Amino acid sequence: MELRKDPITRSWVITGDDVIEPTPRSQACRFCGPSAELAHVIANLPGVDGSAWSARSVVHPHALYHIEGEPARRADGLYDRMGSVGAHEVLVENPRHHGHLWNASDVEVEQFLRLAALRLQDLKRDNRFKYISIFKNHGAEAGQEFEHPTSQLTATTFVPRRVLYELRAGRDYFESKERCVFCDILAQEERQNLRIVEIRGDYVAFCPYAPRVPYETWIMPRSHESSFERTGSSRVGSVTDLAALLRRTLQRIRTVTEAFHLVLHTSPNSQHPSATLGYWKTLDDDYHWHIEILPILESKARSYTFKEIYYSPVTSETAVKRLREAKI
Ligand SMILES: [Zn+2]
Ligand SMILES: [Zn+2]
Ligand SMILES: [Zn+2]
Repeated sequence: MELRKDPITRSWVITGDDVIEPTPRSQACRFCGPSAELAHVIANLPGVDGSAWSARSVVHPHALYHIEGEPARRADGLYDRMGSVGAHEVLVENPRHHGHLWNASDVEVEQFLRLAALRLQDLKRDNRFKYISIFKNHGAEAGQEFEHPTSQLTATTFVPRRVLYELRAGRDYFESKERCVFCDILAQEERQNLRIVEIRGDYVAFCPYAPRVPYETWIMPRSHESSFERTGSSRVGSVTDLAALLRRTLQRIRTVTEAFHLVLHTSPNSQHPSATLGYWKTLDDDYHWHIEILPILESKARSYTFKEIYYSPVTSETAVKRLREAKI
């Protein structure tokens, strides 16, 4: 496997001819029961109600990125390539095989969020990595990999394109207004109250003004904070509100559709000594972490992949009504 950079969009892709062996169907779940013992565990959070653990991170069984070595970025004519150095982990959200984020207890969801924060903190100490992504694909249309409730983490030597757009846009807005664009969005959303799904303590769930897919929903802290892991480790009590809001928002989305992508967008690794990316001094002021949930509506799933301009047949104002009124 290697990383190649698209010279036009400047985004990195991972490619290679390594054949990934499909996991035999009849096998027992590798994340619970007796075979869970065989997993290469990286971090464990203590159990909450007598179980041995509550959330844990393990090495992905078919890791796309490997922790050893240097990226060795080099030119190939006009192109750029580098080795697939990084980390690829499975974040097991719950020891119970059916303990999904939407039907687990708030304490269980909180443990999962704490695990995510811990892994971010730990991997950001490795200054080879520029960015740590945490995401979840649920449902066949979303490309769900394991039956057991899991999210995934990748630590990469590049910043994913969508995050790069957000970072640059945040910096540009800050340069002209000296304010965080995400804080300004939240202030207007709270003032207008047209697209707010729910507010819980310091956290807001809302449908963004210009959605890419129907029922797209974001969760954001109301207090300005660029990195998720700082929220997870410092503000005592607030993670419980976040856990409850995440659980309730996923319950709402599930009244519309089964499948969704979820991604956490947080600040990049500012320890990375990157000269070309030029991490700016105002990063902590101009970026604001958030969770994006992109539901997949079966009929629209196909058009999403080949359309360059996003089309959502449901406006955010209509979506929010259905999500607010969902019986959860
Ligand atoms: Zn399982
Ligand atoms: Zn902000
Ligand atoms: Zn984002």
